[in-house]
Amino acid sequence: MAGSSSLPTYFAKRLEGKVALITGGASGIGESTARLFARQGAKVVIADVQSDLGHSVSKEIRSESGQPVSYVQCDVAKDSDVENAVKTAVSMHGKLDIMFNNAGITGKYDPSILSIEREDFKKVFDINVYGGFLGAKHAARVMIPQKKGCILFTASIASVCYCGIPHAYTAAKHAVVGLTKNLAVELGKHGIRVNCISPGGIPTPLASKAMGGVDMKTLQETCMADAILKGVPVDANDVAEAALYLGSEESKFVSGLNVVVDGAYSLRNYSST
Ligand code: NAD
Repeated sequence: MAGSSSLPTYFAKRLEGKVALITGGASGIGESTARLFARQGAKVVIADVQSDLGHSVSKEIRSESGQPVSYVQCDVAKDSDVENAVKTAVSMHGKLDIMFNNAGITGKYDPSILSIEREDFKKVFDINVYGGFLGAKHAARVMIPQKKGCILFTASIASVCYCGIPHAYTAAKHAVVGLTKNLAVELGKHGIRVNCISPGGIPTPLASKAMGGVDMKTLQETCMADAILKGVPVDANDVAEAALYLGSEESKFVSGLNVVVDGAYSLRNYSST
């Protein structure tokens, strides 16, 4: 509007005044998202099991962005830890706008059903699925009275195509997509949006470990070569950008969606499915 003192939307920070809690925020996709969210004006709380890294990453992002960025110790598979992380974010900043349930593990990288142990299967589900469920539950307790909020999950392209990933992880990420859709229906009446992101191969410590400890440069080259879209230097920020869109007001009518960020990798077998 002519004469308005507010900045045009293209100059405004996209998460100005928002409060975001990011699980698995000490590394990889979560770290990149914390960095991008803070740059876009959010107050960020990083929840992770890696205490030293969580403290150092939050300190670095705080000084780089000038935003309040803090770390809280949290094992997402533990109800009391997740409850505490949500309470910490709310007591520090008075509300919770974005709950990003991103923490995940692949579990043992053994492709055979004959050798998967119950314990490994359970651990993968405890962190990837139940951990996200707990994040959504405790966030919903805050967001329902707010009548507003955004819950995000990190799933995987293992939820949309076969990609040689272990069975437990693939099943867990399918479950994350199911949870996203169910919660979008249940929480929609409270004005809460629920979406998930399915990254393809992204150069992070998790992917490096899954590929036998390969270095980040080789890993990035492999991720790029695997994608159908050529010539795009992929990194964790590409997933963070999707989280930024889903966490911002720009996606205010988007809920129940699984956003695939994979350079079209998952379309490889499209014609045969
Ligand atoms: P990453 O290893 O760099 O980061 C994962 C973070 O989660 C780490 O900081 C780790 O400490 C934390 N974490 C692990 N277990 C936890 C727990 N119990 N409680 C709290 N924090 C815990 O890996 P990433 O690639 O950034 O993974 C982030 C998410 O992206 C995961 O859900 C993963 O499954 C998913 N994903 C990754 C890729 C990829 O290629 N990197 C592809 C698809 C999906």
